[in-house]
Parts: sequence; C-alpha cells; structure tokens
Amino acid sequence: MTIRTRFAPSPTGFLHIGGARTALFSWAYARKHGGTFILRIEDTDVERSTPEAVQAILDGMAWLNLDYDEGPFYQMQRMERYKAVIQHMLAQGQAYYCYTSPAELEAMREVQRARSEKPRYDGRWRPEPGKVLPEPPAGGAPVVRFKNPTSGSVIWKDLVKGYIEFDNGELDDLIIARADGTPTYNFCVVVDDWDMGITHVIRGDDHVNNTPRQINILKALGATVPQYAHLSMILGDDGTKLSKRHGAVSVMQYDEDGYLPEAVINYLARLGWSHGDDEIFSVEQFCAWFDLDHITPSAAQFNTEKLNWVNQHYLKQADNARLVALVRPRLEARGVTVSALPALEAIVALYKERVATLNELADAAEVFYIDLHPDRELLHSQLSAEAVPALHELMGRFRDVTWEAQAIGAAIKEMIGKHGLKMPKLAMPLRVMLTGQTQTPSVDAVVALFPRELVLARMAQYLE
Ligand code: GLU
Repeated sequence: MTIRTRFAPSPTGFLHIGGARTALFSWAYARKHGGTFILRIEDTDVERSTPEAVQAILDGMAWLNLDYDEGPFYQMQRMERYKAVIQHMLAQGQAYYCYTSPAELEAMREVQRARSEKPRYDGRWRPEPGKVLPEPPAGGAPVVRFKNPTSGSVIWKDLVKGYIEFDNGELDDLIIARADGTPTYNFCVVVDDWDMGITHVIRGDDHVNNTPRQINILKALGATVPQYAHLSMILGDDGTKLSKRHGAVSVMQYDEDGYLPEAVINYLARLGWSHGDDEIFSVEQFCAWFDLDHITPSAAQFNTEKLNWVNQHYLKQADNARLVALVRPRLEARGVTVSALPALEAIVALYKERVATLNELADAAEVFYIDLHPDRELLHSQLSAEAVPALHELMGRFRDVTWEAQAIGAAIKEMIGKHGLKMPKLAMPLRVMLTGQTQTPSVDAVVALFPRELVLARMAQYLE
C-alpha cells in the first residue's frame, strides 16, 4: 500500500504553529514511507476564507520546506464533484431531502430542552420503510441530510489516542447540502479523502468529533476508511491554549523574529513526538525516525526558551554566506547601509556563536555600520582615569600594528603591562567606544573586524 497523507488547512488565517506541526507530521509520515503528501485548501467557508490566507499557507509551507507531491487542491473548485456525490447518495437512499425550516428546528429544540434532552434533529423527513412522509411545502428549499445508522456504534483505533467509540444514537442525520445546494464541511472532507485515496488522516484533535460522522459517510459510499491519527493541541508557555495572545503564532512571524526554518522544524518535530532523548536532529533523520507510535496523546507545551536554544544550535552551524544573506536584508530594513568594510561575513562568523536569533545577529552587526553614539554614562562608568593614557598610547600603536586579531591582541597586552592595568580596564572602555556594548566576543577579534581608520576615529571621539 502506498501511504497517502494530506494537510488540509482552512484559509481563514495564517499558517499557525499548530497547523505547521500537523503539516510536518503528515509530510514526514509520507516521506518516511516513500508515500505521497497532498496539500488541500479547504476554502468552502467563503465568508472567512481569503486569498491572503491561502498565500500565507503557501508561504509558510515553502519557508519550512514542506513540499507537496499533489495539489494544492481547492475545495471551491470541486463543487461539481461534491454535488454529483450528493445526487448519487439521494438516488441510493443514503441521503434525503429535509424541509424542516429553521423556525421548526428551533421549536423542536425548545421542546427537547424543556424535557432536558439533548437538542437534535428528530428525523421527521427521514424516510423509513412504511413511514408516510409529510407533503413537501410549496416553494420550500430543502437541505440534504445523511441517513446516519441509528443503531450500533462507530469505533476506530486512533493511531495516537487508541480506541475511540461513538454511539450512532448520539449522531444526528448530518446536513450534507445546504438549502442553496452547497455541500457542507464534513461532506467535502469525506469526498476529498476518498477521491484522493488518503490512507492516513493526521490532523488536530479538534476533529475527533467529526470523525464518526465522516466514517459513516465513507462507509455508505463504499470507500476504504483511512486510519486516523489525532494530534493533541499545543499549549502556550503558560499552559493555556496556544493563541494569538502568545504572540508569534504565525509561522512567518518566526521568520520575521529571526528563527531558521530548520530550527523551527526540529523544534516542532519534538512538540509531542520523541525519539529517545534526541533533541537535535536533521530533517532527514526526522523523516527516517518518524512514526505515529511515539506521538504523545497528551497536550504538548510550547517553550520559547527551548526554541531559542534549538535556533542557537542551528545558527552556530549555519554557513556564514547564508547568514550574511539573511542578516543583510534585516539591516537594510532598519535603514542601515551595509558597507563592504567591515565585512559582514566576518562579523556574523564571530557573533553567530553568541546569539539566539538572526535579529540578535543583526543587532550585533548593526553597530559596525552606524554612526555610533555609545551611551555617555556607560562609557564614563567604564573609562577610568588610569585607562585614558593607556588608550591614548594604544591608539598610537594601532596606527601601525598589523591589522589582524593576534597583533592587535598583542598590542593591547603590551599596553596593560606597561600601564599596570588589568585587562578589563582597557578592554571594557574599548568595547563601549567601538560597539556601544560591554558584552562582546574577545576584544582583539572585535577590533580586528573594523577597518583601522574606523577604530581610530571611534576612539578619537572620546579620547581627544
Ligand atoms: N480544514 C481543517 C482545519 O483547518 C482540517 C480538516 C482535516 O484535516 O480533516 O482545521
């Protein structure tokens, strides 16, 4: 059997982090088994679906490198197919027209509520052998309902949650076409999963309640029922449902915030799935290891600190030229002109060990290109009276020293020796004069990043 999975987002918002994890797991399952991964856009909610949201989903998938083998399919382009299946089901007696008006439904529910019963459709238009149906009202536009089995139960072995059972007696006769003829959500999903030959439905567990209805319709159609794996939700850092309140929930927001896509993938892979104690692994390893048995049925909790840690790992490993290509536009977006010197590549090479995000890398690089005005108070607190003559003399040495870290370091050491100072006495004010910061990589390496003239100019500003 060829594994066929799908990711079926509704384009009512951007691709959020939960959706991205669902996409990742569906994708990885197909990749692991040499199967097919399908992208299907469930855009039948015309009020809430937007082209921008479709684009955001495509952008998010592309950014994460989740490639699909088939699609994107759009449900709005498949209307004729759904309608044809509805006609077929009507002809087969698997579905029926129901003329109950909204007012009648409301009245029905009132009575049920008064009797403390669960509100449900009472089946008044459901054909049964020997039953006499009411006369259709003149001009009434009927909905189409699925003739759900009335006895027995629907049971499936969920690949994440184990056996789940629903009594058919609990399930209404679902409306599969509205009065205007348009098919409803659950019905479109069923026809698509059937037509697309989906073998494994991997999706959020907010769809568990839809599953028995979908299974019943699939069975009525004579379709093979796929296997289901319902993923538990992702909670926010604070243990509550992950929501917009938690800030960066759109996948593209992570791009903006300076995360590498491979870090987000690695992080998401561990969100509810595990492979022993492995925390850092490539996407190839993930595809080789991924299975549904090691998905935890309990909710996973988002942890920004851990994401930062993972991102830091990938930043350290990242190729310098690639980091330049990622950091440069961030600097330019801040209005910073990246000149040839100091070389951005040398800056990212030195700083990538110390930052958690690309934005922090851009922060570190920015000070090399702007007209820097270090905080006066900070500089005063670091610039001691005994350091001033040593720094003066150091400026002189900087004029003719070979311009590379080792020789620069030797010149600094020579000066602290000569003036009887401890290293920080010289290194700290130098750091602040050059970068505005006290925390930098080793000072000789930082000095060497700048062109000589720029170092002299920045020092001169405060010493002369
Ligand atoms: N369109 C649904 C959603 O975005 C997913 C449906 C499914 O995976 O079956 O939640």
